Amino acid sequence: MPVAKFLKARLEATISFTIATIIEFNTGEAIIANQHKTEAAFWEQKTLAEMTTVEWESLCDGCGRCCLHKLEDADDGHVYYTRVACELLDIAQCRCQDYENRGQRVPDCVKLSIDQKAYFNWLPESCAYRLLAENKPLPSWHPLITGTQDSVAAAGMNVSNIAIKETTLTDLTTEVIALKSLA
Ligand code: SF4
Ligand code: SF4
Repeated sequence: MPVAKFLKARLEATISFTIATIIEFNTGEAIIANQHKTEAAFWEQKTLAEMTTVEWESLCDGCGRCCLHKLEDADDGHVYYTRVACELLDIAQCRCQDYENRGQRVPDCVKLSIDQKAYFNWLPESCAYRLLAENKPLPSWHPLITGTQDSVAAAGMNVSNIAIKETTLTDLTTEVIALKSLA
């Protein structure tokens, strides 16, 4: 596996951490619950570009996977995930520890938007943004379907049990992992 190029950029979890903040104030649960009760699933009715900000943000399941360092194969462009987390990720909570100032503290944290489709192949295959961009359905454990954020951890899809902290001695090439797949 000729991994030669280190991708410092980490896809932003703008959405995940926005949702996490909302939940902290006890309103995000309501948003998820309301979406859960909605008869017409907006993610099946609209394209990503047509979604409102709230709808777009609610797609993030808060898995934290996009906050792991990645390696890109210089030959074929394949992206490999490592278990090493961005220094700002609260691994236990899968939440950015300084969301407001992340741009200053981690300049290569990319804000994910519909205009950033070039970055979508860096997202894990389980990510709702990537799934919908590829015309695939949301997984059964997604909070918009289950009505609870807990289903992500229950399905073993977040990084709280696999991620490790980054240190100055970390050799990313020895930390490549296979993320749990959707199947
Ligand atoms: S990988 Fe996707 S769903 Fe998971 S935290 Fe990142 S943006 Fe959200
Ligand atoms: S700064 Fe790090 S932890 Fe925070 S959102 Fe960006 S990649 Fe994730």
